[in-house]
Amino acid sequence: MNAVDIHSGDDLRDLYRELILDHARSPRHFGKLDDATHTAEGINPLCGDKLRLFVRLDADEKIAAASFEGSGCAISVASASLLTDMIIGLTVTQALDSFAIVTGRLTGSDTDRELDAAIDLGKIKALDGVREFPSRVKCATLAWHALNSAIHGQSTPISTE
Ligand code: ZN
Repeated sequence: MNAVDIHSGDDLRDLYRELILDHARSPRHFGKLDDATHTAEGINPLCGDKLRLFVRLDADEKIAAASFEGSGCAISVASASLLTDMIIGLTVTQALDSFAIVTGRLTGSDTDRELDAAIDLGKIKALDGVREFPSRVKCATLAWHALNSAIHGQSTPISTE
């Protein structure tokens, strides 16, 4: 039975790897959002990742639309793609909670944090595998820092360094 358990764990990891590659190859919500209310740029000099995140908040402080543009490694692009997929429909508070949860999970400082039942982390868990590659964590968190920065209205680009 143990062999089966270990094997299914590998399958899950493969599934997550496939998910990341899929989002890296075909990023969702890629491109400029012309009617964005909030935007921020993120730069990860270590890897050369550079992206700009766009968010449109509606009157109820909900994220009505989100997109990103830029270039970077597969992990940074996949993370931004997953992020935009996930935050559309969330409130600002939920989006900021997601930032805290995802960056906490990735940096290992906050892995036990209970997830807000209203937030479906779903595919974002695919990024957990990045924890095994500490040098790539900044690639994965870049878009999330840009989201945090955009919502707080910061105009200077955020840098991971
Ligand atoms: Zn990168």
